[in-house]
Amino acid sequence: MSENVSPTKKKPPINSSNNILNTNISYLKGVGPSKAEIFAKEYDIHTFGDLLHYFPFRIVDRSKVSTIDNFNSEEPYLVFRGRINDLRTITSGHSTRMEATFTDGTGTISLVWFQGLKWIKESLKAGSVYNVMGKPTLFGSSWQIVHPDLEVSSIYDERPAHAFLPIYRTTEKAKNRGLGTKAIARITSTLLQQVPYHLPETLPANIIQRYHLMERGNALHSIHYPSSQQEWQQALLREKFEELFYHQLDYQYSRIARRQHSVGRIFGLVGDHFHTFYNQHLPFPLTGAQKRVVKEIRSDMRSGRQMNRLLQGDVGSGKTLVALLTILIALDNDCQACLMAPTEILATQHFVNFQKYLANQNICVELLVGSLRPSQKKKIKQRLANGEIDILIGTHALIEPDVQFHRLGYVVIDEQHRFGVEQRSKLWGKSEIPPHILVMTATPIPRTLAMTLYADLDCSIIDELPPGRQPVVTLHGTDANRAQLFHFMRQEIAKGRQVYVVYPLINESETLDLKDLMDGYESISRSFPMPQYQLSIVHGQMPADAKAYEMDRFKRGETHIMVSTTVIEVGVDVPNATVMVIENAERFGLSQLHQLRGRVGRGGGQSYCILMTKNELSHTSQQRIKTMCDTTDGFAIAEADLRLRGPGDLQGLQQSGMLDLKVADLVDDEPLVCATRDEVHHLLDTDPDLLLPDNALLRQHIRNNNNHPHWEKIS
Ligand code: ADP
Ligand code: MG
Repeated sequence: MSENVSPTKKKPPINSSNNILNTNISYLKGVGPSKAEIFAKEYDIHTFGDLLHYFPFRIVDRSKVSTIDNFNSEEPYLVFRGRINDLRTITSGHSTRMEATFTDGTGTISLVWFQGLKWIKESLKAGSVYNVMGKPTLFGSSWQIVHPDLEVSSIYDERPAHAFLPIYRTTEKAKNRGLGTKAIARITSTLLQQVPYHLPETLPANIIQRYHLMERGNALHSIHYPSSQQEWQQALLREKFEELFYHQLDYQYSRIARRQHSVGRIFGLVGDHFHTFYNQHLPFPLTGAQKRVVKEIRSDMRSGRQMNRLLQGDVGSGKTLVALLTILIALDNDCQACLMAPTEILATQHFVNFQKYLANQNICVELLVGSLRPSQKKKIKQRLANGEIDILIGTHALIEPDVQFHRLGYVVIDEQHRFGVEQRSKLWGKSEIPPHILVMTATPIPRTLAMTLYADLDCSIIDELPPGRQPVVTLHGTDANRAQLFHFMRQEIAKGRQVYVVYPLINESETLDLKDLMDGYESISRSFPMPQYQLSIVHGQMPADAKAYEMDRFKRGETHIMVSTTVIEVGVDVPNATVMVIENAERFGLSQLHQLRGRVGRGGGQSYCILMTKNELSHTSQQRIKTMCDTTDGFAIAEADLRLRGPGDLQGLQQSGMLDLKVADLVDDEPLVCATRDEVHHLLDTDPDLLLPDNALLRQHIRNNNNHPHWEKIS
């Protein structure tokens, strides 16, 4: 996905009564050209309307003053009233800070500043009464507030109309130039005096009624200056609803449009290839989930429109077999298919499996990877263009321009997030009629995210593991447990099992990573001496054939321990390996830990994952380790990941540009995400072209926002 696919930045329907909202911000009393410039540069606020839509992230009840001897330290934000004394500058080492003692008659608290010291020094009046606002934190045994919001108490008294003070996000630059949250609050208060309470609606009346939403004008007033906490929540709800509703409308509408316009090959036939394999060579019965997904794909393939489907399934859920079965359908319809994997190891593994599964079935499978000799590549390309090859498996090598298919009908991409949009779109340029696309990922996407991000994509989920899988027992250890760990590894090896030991790979310094790995390898070889124990080692700086050789030895059971960096992260399948030791586990993200753990527990008996960390862990690292020890459910882990890191940070989604929600929060507002999705779904179901009078506003919105995403660019 890339920037240009974002359909966001929606504008409310244009209406003449909105004119006041289009007025340039510099015309507002108290703003002027220099503040207007800061507004524009720092906050992207240019008009009255922009400021009106710059919502506070919190409101503070100034009528509720806490006392220092008895405040609730769980509250995110508190107001105290008292005097500031004893302002002093403290220098330690290179850093300078300022501290003041604040007292309200019941006790004292320290106020601390690290920035803007000059301004504090000049403007703070020792001895004056202030409202001091912020969250007290415990420093040693005393309470302090770092960078408190301050207000001279007399200002507060002049404005009894607003018991609640809005708190806005600010930037350091704007604060230093007089546009901090207090100044913004003052300016919005001026603005609201000019904005009518009745503004043209942006949501259909029937929706406002059914969901008991606050009307637009009222909401925009109350979200800045509510008269109660409940009123603020109501206003917030209305704004969140609107944001999510339009987001869903844009995506779902585009998806329908795409369906109507896209032409795909019709795979009407399920023929010999499929049936022969299914009836005679299927290695095990499909799980219910595998069957369901194959059906979903089949019905897409004969629909006449191009399939664009995301297949999510936890590690080990059996996605490969789904790929194989549906590839056979493409072959039954006289098309070629290709399967693209992110690494040579994986592509080779798929190739070996496919050859095994498809032996004696008169199907030609070939492997195209970078390490082949040029003459081999050339030959494969020729046979591909002739149509002699039915299934081509490979890596990035598949997307090179000189790889020409005879009749490409179906593309399967394994482990989605490794490929960029550009790379994928190159693949389907290889056929006149775009091939059907299946993107398989083992990184589950939390439900809310999937709903929001992929409202345009068809999604299949394998939510069932093949029978007989025991959950992997996950334990946390530190260096103090190393002797125990080695003892345990010996026990498992004595039972005929194999062990992975994985070191993190941190891009910053490959040399250092390699050193970690080598040190670890040496220590393991001392504790597991030859010839009793055989070790493999694999890392990113080895040539591909050396890697493949070591992987093969481990796969064939010739070595007991595989010491490696994360090259084994995705897809490698060695069912006899039952122990996964992850060194420096605190340095891995949750989804990566989950992927790694998925390498064991693949049928070879009770499996274990040991997360080795240093002793002192940050709070989030602790949470990650705990999550891993508590659950093996990929979706639960993805949700935890979303909570711990925030959606903008999820692997592969950073550049998506689709997550710029302003008010709503994907985690906290999940019920609202579902409600708006269902509402829009129902609405487009009954009125796909938005022709009903009730939906006039929505039709206008779609017309005004003609910047639909380029669907052909994403899969
Ligand atoms: P992933 O979804 O992680 O790609 P794989 O396709 O590699 O999973 O399958 C994991 C393992 O489960 C493989 O060893 C595969 O042979 C096995 N497997 C797949 N489907 C089934 C099934 N229906 N019953 C039993 N084992 C299965
Ligand atoms: Mg796989």
